[in-house]
Amino acid sequence: MSRYAAPLREMRYVLFDVLQGESHFRALPGAEHVNRELVDAVLDEAAKFNELVLAPLNGSGDQEGCHWHAGEVTTPKGFKAAYTQFVDGGWSGLTAPEAYGGQHLPEIIGAIVKEMIDSANLSWGTYPLLSHGATEALKHHGEEWQREVFLKPIVEGRWTGTMCLTEPHCGSDLGLLKTKAEPAADGRYRISGTKIFITAGEHDLTENIVHLVLARLPDAPPGTKGISLFIVPKFKTARDGSVGERNTLSCGSIEHKMGIKASATCVMNFDGAEGYLIGQANRGLIAMFTMMNTARLAVGLQGLGLIERAYQNALFYARDRLQMRSLSGPKRPDKPADPLIVHPDIRRMLLTQKAFLEAGRALTYRAIMLVDAFERGTDAEAKKNADDLLGFLTPIVKAVMTELAVECTYHALQIYGGHGYIAEWGMEQLARDARITTIYEGTTGIQALDLLGRKTLQSQGAGLKLFLTEIADLCAANAGNTDTAEFIPVLTQLAQQWQELTLHVGKASMADPEELGAASVDYLFYSGYVAMAYFSASLVAHARPHGDAFLKNKLDTARFYFTRILPRASAHALAIRAGAATLMAMDEESFG
Ligand SMILES: Cc1cc2nc3c(=O)[nH]c(=O)nc-3n(C[C@H](O)[C@H](O)[C@H](O)COP(=O)(O)OP(=O)(O)OC[C@H]3O[C@@H](n4cnc5c(N)ncnc54)[C@H](O)[C@@H]3O)c2cc1C
Repeated sequence: MSRYAAPLREMRYVLFDVLQGESHFRALPGAEHVNRELVDAVLDEAAKFNELVLAPLNGSGDQEGCHWHAGEVTTPKGFKAAYTQFVDGGWSGLTAPEAYGGQHLPEIIGAIVKEMIDSANLSWGTYPLLSHGATEALKHHGEEWQREVFLKPIVEGRWTGTMCLTEPHCGSDLGLLKTKAEPAADGRYRISGTKIFITAGEHDLTENIVHLVLARLPDAPPGTKGISLFIVPKFKTARDGSVGERNTLSCGSIEHKMGIKASATCVMNFDGAEGYLIGQANRGLIAMFTMMNTARLAVGLQGLGLIERAYQNALFYARDRLQMRSLSGPKRPDKPADPLIVHPDIRRMLLTQKAFLEAGRALTYRAIMLVDAFERGTDAEAKKNADDLLGFLTPIVKAVMTELAVECTYHALQIYGGHGYIAEWGMEQLARDARITTIYEGTTGIQALDLLGRKTLQSQGAGLKLFLTEIADLCAANAGNTDTAEFIPVLTQLAQQWQELTLHVGKASMADPEELGAASVDYLFYSGYVAMAYFSASLVAHARPHGDAFLKNKLDTARFYFTRILPRASAHALAIRAGAATLMAMDEESFG
């Protein structure tokens, strides 16, 4: 069974030292009262819940999986009781508005708690996950009565939410979706169609489920301009909040899948189910994007949480397991062999996880703090900047953190050797669970197109420019700092190269649109590795007040990152410059 202890020291270091959490809270209207003491208390409680309640259910949930019988889904043993504890502890409304029963704490606090949930039990975490997205959509696009009726029970944890986008023939390309919405005389709509792969579409944790469903009105234009968003509850719910009979929707089956086996992935059939339009007709994608952006950052957090758990276990095992002698002579002569951690290749894998974990945490938290700045800010220019930078960082967080989670959970498995491949130690579960994170909420390929197309070239590099300014600020602020001296010139050079590469791709894709698609994933990884170099140096820059050992720890990690990981960025830059020609030269028939 794998272990988990919340990494509170690291979380606090990133939040309070590297990202100046206290000034962040002071500047947020409505969050001025949030101080270190309050955050510490919340995180301590969250750590207990995750370590003692959720983490022990991770392995058993994976082994048991969910059960489907005649349209009803039962979650694994212990899941419902844990959910009740979650709700009783007030966790479901941590960041939701006070007007709807929430505590309205900043999103970053909710995100740190969520990182713990994702480490402790990724599958369990998918049930409240979509509620957060539904809360955001209702908050921003719902009518007041819709918020009263649907938001309150979600915030209280009595109901959960879903996101129903995917259909059998349409996933990445939502313009193809067919689900229909017929207006009824009473102002409601009747929704008909089949949605697949719906996370938490049916389960036994709550008394009602609020499905947010994308569908087409009868006169809707084709493509993405003709999609509307509807609230479709499992049990019919009137405008006065009264809950009636079962709606005409059902869970046809649940999927048998590679990982997150305790998360119910449902086929949902809507047979004239009663629902309400949310937001404007044919503008559903805009409302859905509110959910999707939140959900994309949430999936990035899943990647982070998985890396943390993988690293903790790999480190434990590497210290404990004795195999062979160190190349430079025995390090534990009293033992029959040295522990794995003496071997350079094991250290390569451990340090790769540690470096990605620490820089990735800073990157992810930074992005989520921009959500706070955007949502609560009052200054128009500052809000726009937060929005631009957040838009730019979101696909990087989503795609890079999840791709690295796949890599790092495999490193952990490898460190366990054959024991990693068998179920008992829990490493193969982490690797299986990680795999979905690069697919749902938009695959890595789709994130890459979003980053390079919409968030960079179409916006004249607004987000990139802001991020490059942050890099320049770090370099200027640390001009005389001996701790970061070796990293600053590299960062300055990378910032320049990033700009040049972007201009190069922009020009190339104006001449040939295929160049954008050909460069996109390499550009995404390039951006991710450079962004992490910046955060890696930032982690060093703030370490000295924490003592020599802490500073050395951060320095050693950053040195490893800059010398042994960052060269990957150069390979991606070369691939970008190689262009589309080699990808497009071969005729379709010649592939085989
Ligand atoms: C466990 C699980 C849970 C899920 N939960 C939900 C949920 O709660 N709600 C929901 O609505 N959906 C959910 N999904 C669906 C998920 O979001 C989709 O599977 C995903 O968006 C990809 O769509 P697809 O499977 O149809 O693949 P496709 O869209 O068919 O894509 C196949 C491949 O082609 C690539 N591709 C597609 N278009 C392009 C392009 N233009 N350029 C380059 N590459 C391209 C993709 O990156 C991918 O690699 C879930 C899926 C799973 C497996």
